[in-house]
Amino acid sequence: MKQSYTIDQLLGASFSCNCGREHSTCFSRMILEEDALTKLPALLAELERRHPYLICDTHTYDACGRQVCEILYAAGITYTITILESPAVGDLPADEEAFGRVCMAFPKDSDLVISIGSGTINDLGRYLSYITGLEFILVLTAPSMDGCVSGVAPLIQNHIKITFPAHAPLAMVGDLKILSQAPMKMLSAGVGDILGKYNCLTDWKLSAIVNGEYYCETIEQIMRSAIDKTMAAAQTLRQRRPEDIRTLTEGLVLSGMAMDFAGSSRPASGAEHHLSHFFEMMFLFDGIPAVLHGTKVGIGTVMALRLYNELAKMEKPDFEKLRNSVSARPDQAAWETEMKRVYREGAPMIIDLERKAKRNSPENLLRRLSAIEAHWEEIRALAQAAPRAEEIAQVLESLGAPTRPEQVGVDPTYIADGILYAKELRDRYTILQLLWDIDRLEEMKDM
Ligand SMILES: [Zn+2]
Ligand SMILES: [Zn+2]
Repeated sequence: MKQSYTIDQLLGASFSCNCGREHSTCFSRMILEEDALTKLPALLAELERRHPYLICDTHTYDACGRQVCEILYAAGITYTITILESPAVGDLPADEEAFGRVCMAFPKDSDLVISIGSGTINDLGRYLSYITGLEFILVLTAPSMDGCVSGVAPLIQNHIKITFPAHAPLAMVGDLKILSQAPMKMLSAGVGDILGKYNCLTDWKLSAIVNGEYYCETIEQIMRSAIDKTMAAAQTLRQRRPEDIRTLTEGLVLSGMAMDFAGSSRPASGAEHHLSHFFEMMFLFDGIPAVLHGTKVGIGTVMALRLYNELAKMEKPDFEKLRNSVSARPDQAAWETEMKRVYREGAPMIIDLERKAKRNSPENLLRRLSAIEAHWEEIRALAQAAPRAEEIAQVLESLGAPTRPEQVGVDPTYIADGILYAKELRDRYTILQLLWDIDRLEEMKDM
């Protein structure tokens, strides 16, 4: 039975679940209203914090940071602030340079980390608070992604995005007046990140069927509540009504909480995120300005759902033939050469990941093929239940968001490489790996 979840039910929640696990989140406070910033001094007093360290960039300082500083100053709270320079084009990357700047200005007597921003600034603050052992508060400036309250931070190290452990915020403060003035591309990115859940929830279930991976129905339902909220807000988002901005923000927060409950990004990230990360890496290699996370995820979602739509129509593969060809797939030396071509300086990490995960080993492929054969009808029904790629594309288009990788400057070679090799980025089973397993991925690369 479908159950709807609200944030109030789940703030600071800790519960034993039917899935056999305990779920908990330390995210316990959300102040999401007009003039929410004025409540910061009282929040700090309640937490007994006196010397916050503020992190923002030039954009978020203008949008909100200056006001935060004025409010803290008026309340007699001494703070230190680092304002990172926003690039003229694109988004600030969460890399060694940005994190280095944040660390070098960190005063030893700080007793709290506050990020003022959404994507990168939030990731930097969550990781800093984790390594310093301090608590973390997020002042949200745009509802553009669902990582806002998650317990992991994706950062770029040696041109590769790596998921680091991080502190989920203790509290999130969002002024609806400021949030509703966020650029439309950030709002549509928030929608894109959530639309991705249609795909990654399907990927998660797929892995439960093929690999017996852990799956939790409650977390799925929390994620579905996040999707429902976002879809409701998307209809009229262009009008920037505070109630829609609130609904979208709540959808993103719910999604972040679902990740926290799962203890990993599994319920929120599948093939659509791998495609997004893949394109991001290619942008980094080529020095092309970054594109917002949720924008790329929206594009990856349309691509991944198209693959599910194809799977929904497929005849049962000839499993006998597939089993007989297992020892030749893939040729290890040829695969490593391809990894070096595609992933360049990131190739050692990718090759190392496969050495540990052994997804290409004949035994593992045979095991997966047996499971896919035994559950073929169930897998096809799962694919048939996924939304049509065109439906999702329409929602994004209605918000003026791109739906195809070439619209954000992805080279056609990278699109084909992404379909073939984005799966190598993480040891996480998705539609991309399934199609490779049944030897149907190659023919999809030019779709
Ligand atoms: Zn559970
Ligand atoms: Zn995301």
